[in-house]
Amino acid sequence: MPPVFRNEKAAMSDERTPLIAIVQTRPHRDRYPHHTLRSICTTLLSVSLFTGLIAAVLILNFVPLDDESESLSRQSTYLFKGIPHGWPSSRGLDYDDLVTILRETPNREIARQWSRYYTSGPHLAGKNLSQALWTKEKWMEFGIDNSLIIDYDVYLNYPKDHRLALLEKKGKGSATATDDDTDWEIKYEASLEEDVLEEDASSRLYDRVPTFHGYSASGNVTAPYVFVNYGTFKDFEELQAANVDLQGKIALVKYGGVFRGLKVKRAQELGMIGVVMYSDPGDDGDVTEENGNKSYPEGPARQPSSVQRGSCQFLSKSYQPSKYFISLTISGFAPGDPTTPGYPSKPGAPRQPVDHAIPSIPSIPISYQDALPLLKALNGHGPKASSFDKSWQGGGLEYKGVRYNIGPSPDNLALHLVNEQEYVTTPLWNVIGIINGTIPDEVVVLGNHRDAWIAGGAGDPNSGSAAFNEVIRSFGAALKSGWKPLRTIVFASWDGEEYGLVGSTEWVEEYLPWLSASTVAYLNVDVGTQGPHFRLSAAPLLEKVVVDTSKRFVYVMGNADLLQLRLFNLQTRPFPGNQ
Ligand SMILES: [Zn+2]
Repeated sequence: MPPVFRNEKAAMSDERTPLIAIVQTRPHRDRYPHHTLRSICTTLLSVSLFTGLIAAVLILNFVPLDDESESLSRQSTYLFKGIPHGWPSSRGLDYDDLVTILRETPNREIARQWSRYYTSGPHLAGKNLSQALWTKEKWMEFGIDNSLIIDYDVYLNYPKDHRLALLEKKGKGSATATDDDTDWEIKYEASLEEDVLEEDASSRLYDRVPTFHGYSASGNVTAPYVFVNYGTFKDFEELQAANVDLQGKIALVKYGGVFRGLKVKRAQELGMIGVVMYSDPGDDGDVTEENGNKSYPEGPARQPSSVQRGSCQFLSKSYQPSKYFISLTISGFAPGDPTTPGYPSKPGAPRQPVDHAIPSIPSIPISYQDALPLLKALNGHGPKASSFDKSWQGGGLEYKGVRYNIGPSPDNLALHLVNEQEYVTTPLWNVIGIINGTIPDEVVVLGNHRDAWIAGGAGDPNSGSAAFNEVIRSFGAALKSGWKPLRTIVFASWDGEEYGLVGSTEWVEEYLPWLSASTVAYLNVDVGTQGPHFRLSAAPLLEKVVVDTSKRFVYVMGNADLLQLRLFNLQTRPFPGNQ
């Protein structure tokens, strides 16, 4: 029998039509045993899938992304170019609130306290544990709970003794004079010390740090000397071209031009046996006593007895690859502990020879006051610096009677140079503070070194340290207000920067895989403030950032409009290569 289908439409339309019979059909049977339950489940599933789809679309368009949406975040960077896209406003602090906290929390008076603390005594690398502990405690007070000290055992030198004397032979010109010590008398004994200034408390501290060069070699030499200008590779080439005998001589060199370690390196390579480095006021621009400025503390000109300490590490060279070096073996900078190139100076780490990285001839820094008798003693001996090319012009002591002859010094004079350094492998202490972000593998590092060559260091680095602490205190205030950053922020107070970026380099070497994979940016502050004038230079790429940021701040030392005017009238200069 063919199947009979019930014609419901016909039946409902005219049930009483006599011509159309109502045909009885088979009673309705469910296709599955739990048909009703199955229908309900199907309906619920469809509705929830549809709702989920709609929700996802809404989230992607209107709600900021969080850590679970990391990959989507990267894709959406290209879709939504507004910055900061994905601000986690749902976490209790919106972007404008954060900016307000970061702008209004820093306080000049509190920054002054930090500056006073850091500059109140010597804090040479490896000799500032109390400041490291203090810094860590402050950061924790500020709300950076995850603050810790990370130490390394590094190779450093500390000054023990030094002497510089200009010796003159008795019985000048006598053919019978011998080289016995008794034939020489002291013509000038260099003080090798800065003056104690009534107005500057840090200059009269009993434990102020002697003048010396970081990573300088100990030595005791007596020899004729030669003025070698800035001691650049080119300067030495010109001296050789002029047949100035350098072998066995001591170099009297001006600061400037190239890193001080490279001056010593080249002198050493050319057979010189010592280096005396001085700061020539000719490199101070218009701010000189010769130009009518008074010297510090009465005025801004260089204090005649002031001495620039600094490192003589060979901070630009190539060296042989070692088993510890993989990618950093190409020629370039070699900062950090010279005994552990490319790997961290943890206790027990193997140590390498240092000959490639630091000088083997002694060097000392002196003031121009101490350099004057040495320069004057060269008057009339050897060619004049002015007969060389442009870079040899411009000495600033002619008004004091210096004619800038090159030498060598005459036979009746000799320079006696003693440099005694104690080399130790000693702990140094980085303070690291971490604010964890919600994106696990994107990190911004902000750093400032804490060590200084001298008691004081109000400019370098502690004007930066004082400001840095206020920045960290401000971030702590933001955290307390409920803010949570997307990217992890690492604050670092480095030790041992002055010797050659030692603390930071060892830390980077220890965490290199993580840092390579995650670091988005490193922001450094060293000298934050020196003098009352706002000065700024930047790559043209940063102009918008600089100008936009400046609009948020008032120039407290002067007229805010003046600052705005200065910034908006930045002159763009072509890159040297494009000229
Ligand atoms: Zn510095």
